[in-house]
Amino acid sequence: MNRMALDELKQQIPLLDYLHAHDWQAARSIRGGRLMGLCPLHTDHKPSFLVDPARNLFYCYGCARGGDVIRFAELYHQVKFPQAVVLLREWCGVTPLLEEVTNFYRMQLSRHREAVAYLEQRGLHEPEVVEHMRIGYAPGRCLRAWLNQLGYPPSTLRQAGLVATSGCDAYSHRIVFPLEGNLYGRSILDSAAPHRFLPAGKGGLYAWEQVRRSPEIILVEGLFDYAVLWQAGFHNVTCSLGNHLNARQFLQLCDGSRRVYLAFDADANGSGQSAAQQISRRLWSQGVSARRVPLPDGQDPNSFFVRGGNAQQFQLLLETALP
Ligand SMILES: [Zn+2]
Repeated sequence: MNRMALDELKQQIPLLDYLHAHDWQAARSIRGGRLMGLCPLHTDHKPSFLVDPARNLFYCYGCARGGDVIRFAELYHQVKFPQAVVLLREWCGVTPLLEEVTNFYRMQLSRHREAVAYLEQRGLHEPEVVEHMRIGYAPGRCLRAWLNQLGYPPSTLRQAGLVATSGCDAYSHRIVFPLEGNLYGRSILDSAAPHRFLPAGKGGLYAWEQVRRSPEIILVEGLFDYAVLWQAGFHNVTCSLGNHLNARQFLQLCDGSRRVYLAFDADANGSGQSAAQQISRRLWSQGVSARRVPLPDGQDPNSFFVRGGNAQQFQLLLETALP
């Protein structure tokens, strides 16, 4: 690969975008638009990783390593230079590919009665929420042909995790929600594992840009919880996709002064509530006010609305929430 092709690749991938996609978040900004955060290359307890988005360079004062996005990929994925270049090129290709896949699945949704019936059963009936979340459906056929026709070879689809080695659509019979750099698929069949993601990380909090300036935020575990709350008019909701927060998601909640309502599952084994308790403690220790929303036993926000709960009743729960 010649110098010009390398420069072109580096231009295509802003270092900061690549860092964000790998769950890095700045802890603070400093002079000249530069950013400091925890170093993703070693165990770091105080921010020693400096990023200069204008020059596309990083340097760590802790482990004394630095360079451009290719150097970062080498160190982060522990590969040699040529492999780092391959990884970055693949990464570049996946974003437009996922956009095409999302469009295809969205077209299929209204054409498949079983998908619409599943959404209704989960309490989603407003077209606005389907539009807002760009919800689609994977019927389990035609995806490969559609993408091949757009110029994506089968090997690219397999590498991205969209198509299994057998050639089947990996999201077959799933309701599909696009995430940043990933897809979440919820099976509508009891016979399959309920949740599916592509091998990439789950990224930051769902639709974070839309809520980050809100003084009060409702955090839920699942996208169906998110959907019913958004539909009921609670547009200050976000989702962690599971009850474990990754480092980037936790830093997002801490990046301003706000109140966070944790509306996690009140499931019988207590895992949702113990996770909420732990996150609440961690948030308070960072100076963020947190409240745990007391859902009725055995319920999550989705089942609360599916069983007839309404916005006023949920508002009451928010008002009775305790730290
Ligand atoms: Zn470091």
